Amino acid sequence: MSEGTVWIKRGREKPLRQRHPWVFSGAIDHVKYATPGETVVVRGYDNAFLGRGYFNPQSQIQVRMLTWAEGERVDGAFWRQRISAAWERRGDAIRATSDAWRVVHAENDRLPGLVVDRYGPWLVVQVLTLGVERALPEVVAALVEVARPRGILERSDVAIRHHEGLSERVQVLWGESPPAEVTINESSYQLTVDLWHGQKTGFYLDQRLNRGRVAAWAVGRTVLNAFSYSGGFAVHALGAGAAHVTNADMSADALALAERNLQQNGFSPEQFDDEQANVFQLLRDYRQLGRHFDMIILDPPKFATGKKTLKRATRGYKDINLLALQLLRPKGILATFSCSGLVSPDLFQKVVFGASVDAGVEAQIVEGLGQPPDHPVLLSFPEGRYLKGLILQRL
Ligand code: SAH
Repeated sequence: MSEGTVWIKRGREKPLRQRHPWVFSGAIDHVKYATPGETVVVRGYDNAFLGRGYFNPQSQIQVRMLTWAEGERVDGAFWRQRISAAWERRGDAIRATSDAWRVVHAENDRLPGLVVDRYGPWLVVQVLTLGVERALPEVVAALVEVARPRGILERSDVAIRHHEGLSERVQVLWGESPPAEVTINESSYQLTVDLWHGQKTGFYLDQRLNRGRVAAWAVGRTVLNAFSYSGGFAVHALGAGAAHVTNADMSADALALAERNLQQNGFSPEQFDDEQANVFQLLRDYRQLGRHFDMIILDPPKFATGKKTLKRATRGYKDINLLALQLLRPKGILATFSCSGLVSPDLFQKVVFGASVDAGVEAQIVEGLGQPPDHPVLLSFPEGRYLKGLILQRL
């Protein structure tokens, strides 16, 4: 049987020649013998070999590139080699500070559609494309061989799967079933994670290093940890010597876990409290009440989910940053984040600047933050850069 082939329109090969991993439907001239979920050869209009990737006609991104080498086949050995290379790249610097980190960061590790996080002896996998769905047995075999886990859980309960024609799913893929609560080590702290029901694959591993950076500014300060989730920033802040932390989140489950995490790291109830609230409203209420903080952490969820929501998202970022700046005492610290890939670091800085102008508050950037090395950004895939943060000091 002939291998499926996709021909690219004349003038549309440049991103592919530069190894961008996505082929959009608009760049495709014609297709032959291609089966959804299977690999295809991608060729230029002149029939020149460009690479191989897996095909899904249902998705806007019809091909995700896997290899640029004509001789490389996408088989069991391929998945084993790519996964083991990703494992090896996470060197001792990552392993020394934590037993939980991202093992595979999808496109950025040249494994489009596959996310794997490690929580001690457990692996949690997200399958985001039909191509990876088809290759799942090979992927699992490779992960078992490379990472030697106790068990592998699949947390494919993510809405983007619908774009690929896939439904949501949570299941044990291999080995033992992980318990309801798993405790990981992050720096010198023990954090409890709910792999089955927690957000993302259970925890925000991407903020691991930023928690340490932010905490270094927390000494002696009263802190508002807004969008706290399970209290990662709160534990680090108190550990570094913060006077008091208030966790704010709309999720009662998240706040309960945050309290657990604070208790199990030895902090006493006088050192922390929480507010189950919508942060947008809470910040307004605090302003009304004249309440102030020495430090505010803003780590909201992704506000921009697509180009259509970008405007609303920037308004949201501006709103919370404006309010937070007004709640800060002079010399106060604002640690502010955005995990919307569509909001560039430049745009984010502009939005925060706009917020400071409208708040009537002057501030300086004392630190810029990004993604940790287990969430790398492939240079040919700038879309891989999504998390950015600024630590500001109010003048
Ligand atoms: N800072 C956290 C991660 C935050 S994720 C960490 O380090 O682990 C974003 C959190 O915001 C989630 O816990 C979600 O429940 C909460 N959230 C989303 N929208 C909210 C809103 N409008 N008000 C309060 N919390 C919100």
